[in-house]
Amino acid sequence: MKCEICDLKFLIKSYGCQMNKLDTALVSAALKDAGFGITDNVKEADVVLINTCSVRQHAEQRVLSHLGHLKHIKKSRPGLVVGVIGCMAQRLGDKLLEHEAVNIVCGPAQIPQITKLITETLREKKETISVTKKIRQRSSESQTQALEDFESTYGIEDRQVSQDTLPTGVPGQAFVRAMRGCNNFCTYCIVPFVRGPETSRAPAAIIEQIKRLAGQGVKLVTLLGQRVNSYKYTAGEKSYCLADLLEMASEIDGIEWLRFVTSYPCEEFFNDILQAMADLPKACNYLHLPAQSGSDKILRAMNRRYTAGEYLELLAEARAVVPDIAIAGDFMVGFPGETEDDFQRTIELVKKAKYKNCFIFKYSPRPGTTADKRLEDNVPAEVKKRRNIELLDVQNKISAELNREFLNKEVKVLVEGPSKKPHLNRGNDENSPQLVGRTATDYIVVFNGPVSLAGEFVEAKITQTSALTLFGKLTTNT
Ligand code: SF4
Repeated sequence: MKCEICDLKFLIKSYGCQMNKLDTALVSAALKDAGFGITDNVKEADVVLINTCSVRQHAEQRVLSHLGHLKHIKKSRPGLVVGVIGCMAQRLGDKLLEHEAVNIVCGPAQIPQITKLITETLREKKETISVTKKIRQRSSESQTQALEDFESTYGIEDRQVSQDTLPTGVPGQAFVRAMRGCNNFCTYCIVPFVRGPETSRAPAAIIEQIKRLAGQGVKLVTLLGQRVNSYKYTAGEKSYCLADLLEMASEIDGIEWLRFVTSYPCEEFFNDILQAMADLPKACNYLHLPAQSGSDKILRAMNRRYTAGEYLELLAEARAVVPDIAIAGDFMVGFPGETEDDFQRTIELVKKAKYKNCFIFKYSPRPGTTADKRLEDNVPAEVKKRRNIELLDVQNKISAELNREFLNKEVKVLVEGPSKKPHLNRGNDENSPQLVGRTATDYIVVFNGPVSLAGEFVEAKITQTSALTLFGKLTTNT
């Protein structure tokens, strides 16, 4: 008997954060395991899945415009199945099914059901939906077990999704989820409403997954969580925190580097984690610690539970315990009520913090969040834009200065593969393609070398620098 999904192909497009990239990789692995082929060409696809992000309005607008394009394609190909998965699916639920292009809506907690939803849709030619009804309720044991099984079965490929469409992977690297959800309720953030309560995965499941990844050649594992530094799991008498996970993962042969993102600025476990970083050679000296604002008034309105002064104390503590630590930040400009004075405080914080790099976003109200319900989005768009550019400019000068310190130094790099945007004026050599990789502290390094080095560690001597990139020459393979 012919299998009903053999010869069918799916295309998956991913928006948003590392959590989404990981989910995209899991879904892709599950569909391939079920017999689907993968394609990056919509003309060849029988099923198109969009893994969505709700964190910013702009990300949702891009999905809606993508769905508009698919609606147009479906006029000539009515059999094309379109599924929306991820945070936007959870946030909009039934409303998305009203869109002419959409056949399937599947929330982040329901991804283990994705193959079933697709086959039902194909067989019965009807719309299907599976989202969590009461998102702030703890999942049932069976739901948690289904997510765990899905994660450990499909979260073992030596790849992650690095591009928009295909899980082409970064050789030698993998994301591993440490936690799901968030309990923090920052007033601007949709995550607690679409990803549910904070739940830490069992350390045994995480470590087993990392061992299997190491067996497949993975060298760098990045542990993921919305507030990964608040990882906490109690088994019997013993309680585990992120520092314990780093220590256990460090003992796994084959794993050479361990990172974790994203951290929340708070004291709990902070010193233990820093100490683990200082003591464990495999724990990369890299910390992503979003501050969001340098104004205490705005931080309070955001329900961030620290002041700018306390945040800077955490950075000082981090640098005292791990002197060569590289710190990245996140900021939001144009939050309701942000005055020029508040913004100047943010600039001051960025200057004092000396981040290696910063991610800067313009505030956009997310429906259902406290900021949306209670605060007027009263900073004009052009002011948000100007503040974004100004802050980025301040950070770029700091990054350029920090990057210059690498000149003539040798750095160890984990090679990702060919550079997607070749830097033509940087000695690009046609006989040896331009490769890109990262140091343990997440600095981007570009140099010429054979593509076969993807997934390997090499040494490169830095010969030029810019605000975003270190340019070097390959010296030795390590
Ligand atoms: S810590 Fe705040 S910003 Fe981060 S996911 Fe949780 S609610 Fe959102």
